[in-house]
Amino acid sequence: MKWQGRERSSNIEDRRGQGGGGFGGNLGGLGTGRIPMGRAGGGGLGLIGIIVVLGIIWFVTGQNPLDMVTGNGGSVAPQSQQWSPSSNAGQDELAGFVGVVVKDTENLWTDVFKQNNLTYRPPKVVLFSDATQSACGVAQSASGPFYCPNDKSVYIDLAFYDQLRQQFGAPGDFAQAYVIAHEIGHAVQDQTGILPEFNQKRGSMSQEQQNAYSVKVELQADCYAGVWANYVNRENYLEQGDVEEAIKAANQIGDDTLTRGQVSSRNFTHGTSEQRMAWLKKGMQTGDVSQCDTFQGSN
Ligand SMILES: [Zn+2]
Repeated sequence: MKWQGRERSSNIEDRRGQGGGGFGGNLGGLGTGRIPMGRAGGGGLGLIGIIVVLGIIWFVTGQNPLDMVTGNGGSVAPQSQQWSPSSNAGQDELAGFVGVVVKDTENLWTDVFKQNNLTYRPPKVVLFSDATQSACGVAQSASGPFYCPNDKSVYIDLAFYDQLRQQFGAPGDFAQAYVIAHEIGHAVQDQTGILPEFNQKRGSMSQEQQNAYSVKVELQADCYAGVWANYVNRENYLEQGDVEEAIKAANQIGDDTLTRGQVSSRNFTHGTSEQRMAWLKKGMQTGDVSQCDTFQGSN
């Protein structure tokens, strides 16, 4: 992705090097009411393939790097699963890259919301190292990137990208961009009513029903990441191999791939590799948010 020298978002909060915080767990109120999202500008990608990316990963133990936190309090950090980043070198460059990606999401979603007579409120994106406080609990490196609806913020330790490359076998800057675009997708869902509705309904659902609902939410965030990739392509910022990087990442973080077929699909929370890639591609190819209705039809 072409990003050098481009404008960065002003909504990045850099807490790297500040150390960890105590426990949060302050639950904010969640509004309700889904806002219909009509058609957005489209245009096919023109590429045969096209990408997709990111999802998130929930292991059987309930840990999934890259996720939305549904606001039930407590720490979002796993108890184990620590990994050791190989190096912090290049993190400042990464931070600059993230700033450009976030800026692109702001441009896209501001337009899409405006076309629907709505106003997009860009989330804050918090960069941290090791641990930091969020309104959804303590964010730790091992918890992976996530969106916290209680403080309208995305949290990411840039060391996660080492894990994405090494542990999950998904290298490349566009794989990294997909992760960001997916999390921003949850912020969009928070504003269109999708996340609040989920949080309202999940209390009366069985665990299995919640998981199935979660998969739909996650796949929609993948589709939104694809819509973002379509935007990047329209703006001529895509580079050779970008689409493939994102699709590969989506493949690598599918629930079935992550759990190596050891877990029942009833426990999936993000969707299979096939589903994740399919919805990412759908967003990429159509560039149309109205095509991202994972709540209807088959997925
Ligand atoms: Zn997610």
